[in-house]
Amino acid sequence: MVASSQFRELCHRHSLAATHQRQVIYETVMSLPGHPSPEAIYGKVRKKIPCISLATVYKNIQTFLDSGMLREVSLHHGAMRLEPNHEPHHHLVCVRCKSIEDLDAGNLHPVRLRQKLPRGFQVERIAIDILGVCRDCASKNPSGEKTLSSKNHLSGEQ
Ligand SMILES: [Zn+2]
Ligand SMILES: [Zn+2]
Repeated sequence: MVASSQFRELCHRHSLAATHQRQVIYETVMSLPGHPSPEAIYGKVRKKIPCISLATVYKNIQTFLDSGMLREVSLHHGAMRLEPNHEPHHHLVCVRCKSIEDLDAGNLHPVRLRQKLPRGFQVERIAIDILGVCRDCASKNPSGEKTLSSKNHLSGEQ
């Protein structure tokens, strides 16, 4: 739970008006496990504010993103997913169910660039996506599901 005083202070720091609606949405993002999608947030917010629309939830999430109060998981996973974890970390991405789990930055050696990036690109932070199959998906019978093309290589190594 995020205390109202804490929430108002956060909003103040990011020059946002602290409305009840925003507090409920923010609390929901922080309370949901993993990296919730706007739809998942909407599903939970609606239980507290039944008249709220998905568009309103989207709009407020966008406001949080614009102000820097919330962060988005790297953009290339397609759908928007929100990042409640502000510590440096990487991601374990399941290619089947699209779940995104955090991996502490201390689990990898620091990534260093061999040379300057092209076209003067300036690095803000480096986040690694490790793609694979989560435990839940791996324990399910893969028949009927897409099998990875690398499967044969893997079994050949055993
Ligand atoms: Zn999975
Ligand atoms: Zn994360």
